[in-house]
Amino acid sequence: MRVLLLVLSLFFLSLSPVRADVLDDALADAWLMLERAGARLDGARFGVDLTAYRDALSVHRFRSPHWGGEMTLDIAVRAAAEGDCARYAAYVRMPPENGTVTLVICPQFTNTGTRELRALTILHELVHVVAGPDECRAMSFAAEVEQLSTRRFTNVERYWRANGCEGSGFRLP
Ligand SMILES: [Zn+2]
Repeated sequence: MRVLLLVLSLFFLSLSPVRADVLDDALADAWLMLERAGARLDGARFGVDLTAYRDALSVHRFRSPHWGGEMTLDIAVRAAAEGDCARYAAYVRMPPENGTVTLVICPQFTNTGTRELRALTILHELVHVVAGPDECRAMSFAAEVEQLSTRRFTNVERYWRANGCEGSGFRLP
C-alpha cells in the first residue's frame, strides 16, 4: 500500500506542472479572445459588465453589479473527478461566499478537449462569475466573443436546446 501511495503521489507530482500550464494557457487564450473581440463586443446586450468581466479574468478581483460589491475570484483545481467534477469540466460555486466567487477546474478540463474548448469554457464560466447562473447568457456571450475574435463559433446547439434557450431572449451569433 505504501508503495502504491508513493507511485500515486509521484504520478500527481509529475502531472501538476502540466495542469498549471494547461490552465494558464486557457486563461491567456480567453484574455486574447476578449481583446480581439474588442469594442465590437456589446456587454450590455448580454447583461454582462465588461469592466467587471475583464477585471475578473485579468486580476481576479472585480466589482460585481450582479452579486453586489467587491468580489475576489478564486480558482480551485481539483484532482479527483468526483462530486460536481464527475459531471462538469469546470463550474462556478454560486452564490459567492464572503466576497469570493470560486471557479472549480475539474480533471475533465485539463485531461480532455482541445485548447480552443478550454478557452471557451473559461469565457463561459466567467459569465457566471460576474453575472450569475443564467446558462443562456453564458453560452450566447461566450459564443459572441468566439465569433468576434475568430470568426467562427463552437456548436453548442445541443446545450442551447437542453437549457431551453430558444425562448430566453439571448441568441447565438
Ligand atoms: Zn454554465
